[in-house]
Amino acid sequence: MRAGTLLFPTLREAPAEAQIASHSLMLRAALIRMLASGLYTYMPLGTRSLQKITNIIREEMNNAGGQEFIFPILLPKELLTPSGRWEIFRQELFRLKDRHGSDHALGATHEEAFTELVGREVRSYRQLPINLYQIHTKFRDEIRPRFGVMRSREFIMKDAYSFHADDASLDATYNTMSETYRKIFKRVGLDVVSVKADSGAMGGSGSEEFMVLCDVGEEEIISCTDCDYRANAEKAECKSEYRSEEPAQSVAKAATPNVSTIKALEEFFKVEASKFIKTLIYQREDKSHAAVLIRGDLDVNETKLANYFGGETPVLADDKAVREITGARTGFAGPVGMKKKIPIIADNSIKTVFNGITGANEDDAHLTNVNLTRDFTPDAFVDLRLVKAGDNCIQCGGKLKSNRGLELGHVFKLGKKYTEAFKVTVLDEANKDIVPTMGCYGIGVNRTLAAVIEQHHDEKGIVFPISVAPFEVSIALLDTDGAIREAAERIYNELRAAGADVLLDDRNERPGVKFNDADLIGIPIRITVGKRGIAAGTVELKLRREKDKADVPVADIVARTLELRKKLFQELS
Ligand SMILES: [Zn+2]
Repeated sequence: MRAGTLLFPTLREAPAEAQIASHSLMLRAALIRMLASGLYTYMPLGTRSLQKITNIIREEMNNAGGQEFIFPILLPKELLTPSGRWEIFRQELFRLKDRHGSDHALGATHEEAFTELVGREVRSYRQLPINLYQIHTKFRDEIRPRFGVMRSREFIMKDAYSFHADDASLDATYNTMSETYRKIFKRVGLDVVSVKADSGAMGGSGSEEFMVLCDVGEEEIISCTDCDYRANAEKAECKSEYRSEEPAQSVAKAATPNVSTIKALEEFFKVEASKFIKTLIYQREDKSHAAVLIRGDLDVNETKLANYFGGETPVLADDKAVREITGARTGFAGPVGMKKKIPIIADNSIKTVFNGITGANEDDAHLTNVNLTRDFTPDAFVDLRLVKAGDNCIQCGGKLKSNRGLELGHVFKLGKKYTEAFKVTVLDEANKDIVPTMGCYGIGVNRTLAAVIEQHHDEKGIVFPISVAPFEVSIALLDTDGAIREAAERIYNELRAAGADVLLDDRNERPGVKFNDADLIGIPIRITVGKRGIAAGTVELKLRREKDKADVPVADIVARTLELRKKLFQELS
């Protein structure tokens, strides 16, 4: 393509609204423009990069046996009802009515559509396994769209759904997809970490997230500094620290007027936070209550608590309920002598508190020297603690650290949730109806592009991996004089004929402008054709990621460039 006919209005200054490098550079390099909050237009350069990513995904999905579909984006309410998602996606779903008043939604994900289709079209176990996918637009009504295309309201996703007659078959496809994702991310030049999570009911590792470490990531990843342990903070576990047992002393009541927070208690009693038994009263969905105990220096991981409660989100009880249950106002609850009997769930850390201090279930009073078993017995011990950097690794005891991670892809064993909801059955070998089991596999395409830029840029702009760059080679034509233009045109045509993706910068601009734009856009290979070089029979060859330039004889430049191009691609395979 010729730069003179390409619409790429690059910006010299970083736009004020962009808080992160990828957002700023995508705007500056004219990859995208914002249409409205969370809605972006892909300009020609951005479209080229995005298409290169989708092509890589498509190739690898097809290699892995995937079959591509295009489903409607507009989904009728009836399709989202059996799975309950019309209700569950309360805020996220864009809803609309057609002219007849029928409810519809813009697809946020397509489990239902694929499952319903398989239910109608697949009859026998012999047709399984199948792995169906699409690369298509999705919509989510984000509460706060931000960071450019990292979190937008409209985005492109590759979503795949596999269907199986048995768990062994699901395991095999799940593993293939996990491998496929590694290949995809390598080919686009991304360093990803994968976080395996146990999704409980499925047994084994039922879920793996592919993330890039990046400050604006919405997830916290806990990893070990000594071994390969890595987990989402929501699920991370750690080893309990050892604390030597102390001889039990007698319980005593202490007046603690208006001292109710752990911080205030630490100051009041002049002891460390780990001496306290924090008691939190939660309200369940059925309006019953439960007390949760955790050591004073720790916090409850509400995701773990939600899992313990069977998936319902716990909420802290209000002051009125706290008073009814404990007999005191909020801040003075404890496991000893509660007015109303409710289940007491203790985090494992409670086992390391000896002669602890806890609320007396009485306004302005605490109990000291409280001990497990002698003074109270929880109904259950559960791992509820929020793991932090510095805690001990559950695998090796080493120190854990914390990073932000941005999720790009997810492979997940769904099981029979959707096939059961849609009453999908196929005939097995014995001609008996069985319910197929499912896997699902997503990749966010736009955020993959943004993540590539987060990982590959410098002070001059983007440093694209060749596989994703809008163009592989740029030719800066510095003088438009006959012989010079002719040389540049010849190089351009020969490279294109050999399959290279080339931008010929034939604009009537100063050399500095051309170099700056090529650097900002991040084109991996640059050839400079100028008066001085041509007089000496050479052109200049430079890699975007390196400082050095080389003068190459005009006769050799096409071969040298193609060789370099091949090498850059090989690095990504
Ligand atoms: Zn470890």
